[in-house]
Amino acid sequence: MKRHFLSVLACIGILNAFAAQGNGVKEVKLAGYIGGRIDGCIEKRVLGQSVDELVEPFKAQDETKGRWASEFWGKWIQGAVASYEYNHDPALLEKIKEGERKLIATQLDDGYIGDYDKEHQLHGWDVWGRKYTLLGLVKCYRLTGHKEALEAACKLLDYTISQIGPDSSTPIYKTGYYRGMPPLSILEPVTYLYDETGKPAYLQFAKLIAEQMNSPEGPMLIDKADTPVSQRFVLKPGDSWWSFDNGQKGYEMMSCYIGLLEMYRLTGNSQYLQVALTTWNHILREEINITGGACSLECWYGGHGKQTHPASHTMETCVTFTWMQFCERLLQITGDTKYVDQIERTMYNALMASMKHDNSQIVKYVPLEGFRREGEHQCDVHINCCNANAPRAFAMIPRVTYRVPNRDRIDVNLYMPSQAILQIGKRTFTLTQQTGYPASNEVKITVTPDKTTQANIALRIPGWTPNAIVKVNRETMKGVASGEYYVINRQWNAGDEITLTMEMPAHLVSLNQSVAIERGPIVYARDSRFNDGFVDEVVTIPNKDGIIQMKTEENGKDMWITVSVPMVRGTYNDASTDTRHIRLCDFASAGSTWDERIRYRVWLPKLYTPDNPKSGQFQGYW
Ligand SMILES: [Zn+2]
Repeated sequence: MKRHFLSVLACIGILNAFAAQGNGVKEVKLAGYIGGRIDGCIEKRVLGQSVDELVEPFKAQDETKGRWASEFWGKWIQGAVASYEYNHDPALLEKIKEGERKLIATQLDDGYIGDYDKEHQLHGWDVWGRKYTLLGLVKCYRLTGHKEALEAACKLLDYTISQIGPDSSTPIYKTGYYRGMPPLSILEPVTYLYDETGKPAYLQFAKLIAEQMNSPEGPMLIDKADTPVSQRFVLKPGDSWWSFDNGQKGYEMMSCYIGLLEMYRLTGNSQYLQVALTTWNHILREEINITGGACSLECWYGGHGKQTHPASHTMETCVTFTWMQFCERLLQITGDTKYVDQIERTMYNALMASMKHDNSQIVKYVPLEGFRREGEHQCDVHINCCNANAPRAFAMIPRVTYRVPNRDRIDVNLYMPSQAILQIGKRTFTLTQQTGYPASNEVKITVTPDKTTQANIALRIPGWTPNAIVKVNRETMKGVASGEYYVINRQWNAGDEITLTMEMPAHLVSLNQSVAIERGPIVYARDSRFNDGFVDEVVTIPNKDGIIQMKTEENGKDMWITVSVPMVRGTYNDASTDTRHIRLCDFASAGSTWDERIRYRVWLPKLYTPDNPKSGQFQGYW
């Protein structure tokens, strides 16, 4: 009985894998602001990257300082493969093949691909780098079908197993920093290589890794799943932040849970799913800030409750991407819209904020106030971890926007001007979205099947909307609920029209005597380019139960969405005479030119009123 139950779970996993491969989605083209940002990212960050520069460290093999140059190739090529799956650009395919060929040429006879010299292998970021190499090679193989890529990956994995596998006395978690989370995150590609080869040794190694993820001397990712992620291992005075003792490193931890989700898919062991879900909830509640980013100095720090206070080096873009990846994986497994809500928020705010307005660079850290600037070059390569990683996040967006989760359903997850060609059974559907969302609250989708067909089209109704209306050919549908899919099952004829209208009140978010302004998925910021007073000044914003007035304004230069909100500035101004419309822009546009003379701010200091300290409202005070 138990065995049967497990095999059913395993089957569900296999079906999810089917969906995860994007089967059923033939083509997606995104336009508008997001579409333009993705195209820009591919042009500048993916096609514009020199392959030789990324491969060079693998040829030199002289790393002795414990650095991470071996992660750049694998991060970049995964972004390149995902970008190609979106735009099918032949020039990009050639570039991927060049990257594949040149990397494989660096493989040593014993199977090693990396940048560490022989005696320094298994230290620093060596195994972590191998993880990215394995991921990159598997993704290349799945795209190009080149057996050489799969063989190179297997040789590298065989060599790694000979060093830290079941017959070795070296624990995997001892081969890296942060309680071994970076090397243990190699689990994800090991599961993929098991998928491709069926070799029992790979499954055995995967099980060993999962077991060591829970070692008391390692990160204890299973037993500590219900401990807040910033409190799992407390650093003692004198312990170094950037060391083995720190068990709070953000994206390395999430990368391990992504590996455990792949183990759940392979084995059906629901404990792996459970610990990932529990940890995801902790991260959401205790770490993710209003813009969907997290971490200070790249680690969990209870940042959700502390986000009103400027913290050192916040919101590493690698954390932003890996959070989106964690959400996408759980969406594939559970089909729950709450994961899309998080992807949407992070995408519009933290992710878009990470890329310079001309798409040329990705920041390493995005503060909620201050200015943005270029990240450093790392490990003697003209790139850094975030510039290498972020294209994977941009290329994820088309994949999430439209999904075919099973053979008779299309999910529309994200709303933006776009067109998708989707296959359901033998039928082909073309969906065309016209919308000014998220500046506007209306979406129109035209459905064109190649032949009249019965099918399900599901719309994601965001959890943040108090109310939404769905119409099909102008007929209002019943039973639409926030935070769920609204599934429309009907005979679809060419030209059928779905409209979605979401209630999207502009509102205040209050925390620690500060306020932030949100409407729909967008967070707004003051920006000194408006010359509307000082961005750091104390403000009182007239509101009714948190709902505020917001006006659309002409867009500022290099800004996507510009609005204004009535505010009273300062500590003794009078609401009746001193209320001004103060302009704000979407958080991503704030400081997006990386001119350090610009200053912006999300959390605005809220006026303290001793007669009414709780609300801080001046109504009733005057
Ligand atoms: Zn990074």
